[in-house]
Amino acid sequence: MAAELIYQRCRWCGTASFRRLLCPACASSDLDSHRSDGRGVVVRTNVLSRYRRTMRSESVVRFPEGFTLRCRVIGVPPHLVREGTPVRPATGSDQDAVGDLVVEVCGVRDTDERERWRGRQ
Ligand SMILES: [Zn+2]
Repeated sequence: MAAELIYQRCRWCGTASFRRLLCPACASSDLDSHRSDGRGVVVRTNVLSRYRRTMRSESVVRFPEGFTLRCRVIGVPPHLVREGTPVRPATGSDQDAVGDLVVEVCGVRDTDERERWRGRQ
């Protein structure tokens, strides 16, 4: 089961945001909390490989409700995270309370790529 993703939507202009106290568009503090479907798509990704042992990817994910978030993608090797990869919030203990949202890859495409990756091991 996927973790829940709670986001805010501005009552004035309808802009969706995440972990904000003010609307990023009109600076209103009149925000409603909503539960996101949580399925997003990677729109930009970087592999951080400064330290080999902790190589990880840092990605920007767009959610269907209209906001984008910087996320940490787990579950696949960082170089397999690409633009267009479908993701959803990771369950339970992987989430940090204050850090980047942790997401895991979901969907058919992921399975194919993971299988291919395993096949090369
Ligand atoms: Zn607003």
